Amino acid sequence: MNTNCVNCGAALEIDQLRQIKHCPYCGAEVEIKDETPDTMAGTIHGIAKTFFNQTADKIRYNREHAVEIAEQRRKDKAEEARQSRKMMMYMMGGMAALMTVMVVVMRITGAWA
Ligand SMILES: [Zn+2]
Repeated sequence: MNTNCVNCGAALEIDQLRQIKHCPYCGAEVEIKDETPDTMAGTIHGIAKTFFNQTADKIRYNREHAVEIAEQRRKDKAEEARQSRKMMMYMMGGMAALMTVMVVVMRITGAWA
């Protein structure tokens, strides 16, 4: 792996947090994951690191969007409750209509004086 700066040839410093190598002299930056691994160990390490980064990205995303995710869940729940209330209203309306019809029919037929 290239550990020297392509611009000035100085030794690059690894920034694990940002997953980059940066040159302390000219400020050039190289993304570690963009480098081509030159060994089998490097390949496996790269795959493991990619997996780790994706997991870390997902965790970071969930943390950064925790408020939005919670808000979306709350909206979903509210919508669900709204739908079930609507369904309940339809059912109650249907029952009221049915009872009205029954009363009218009983009145007409004399079953209920
Ligand atoms: Zn440099």
